[in-house]
Amino acid sequence: MSEGTDNEEKIHYQCQRCGNCCRWPGEVPVDDAEMQKIADYLKMPLYDFVAEYTDLRLNRGGLTLTEKPNGECIFLEGKNHCQINDVKPYQCSGFPNRWNFEGWQKACEAIPVKIE
Ligand code: SF4
Ligand code: SF4
Repeated sequence: MSEGTDNEEKIHYQCQRCGNCCRWPGEVPVDDAEMQKIADYLKMPLYDFVAEYTDLRLNRGGLTLTEKPNGECIFLEGKNHCQINDVKPYQCSGFPNRWNFEGWQKACEAIPVKIE
């Protein structure tokens, strides 16, 4: 994972909502504030949200949203509908403009748009 460097070039990558980033396997870390926000959005107690929708990260350094057996995020509905879109965590809202990884363009359909 690395910080995006596109700000210097004034390019913004516009998400096309293909849902790829919700389907590929991997962790979606959530911090305390994000979990509280999602629990409130789902109108459920934080404890229940944690028990039902999160797992311990592999490095044991926090929690991640649960993955379905096929690797999709637990909150993905259909091909590309995020059930918590309004309050999705930074890992989701920040990709690919605020963080990304080497070769991310092969997997993401976001379109570069020049910012004036
Ligand atoms: S929280 Fe929403 S945007 Fe983030 S991976 Fe899950 S379904 Fe996708
Ligand atoms: S992979 Fe890229 S274009 Fe597709 S939903 Fe994720 S951020 Fe948007």
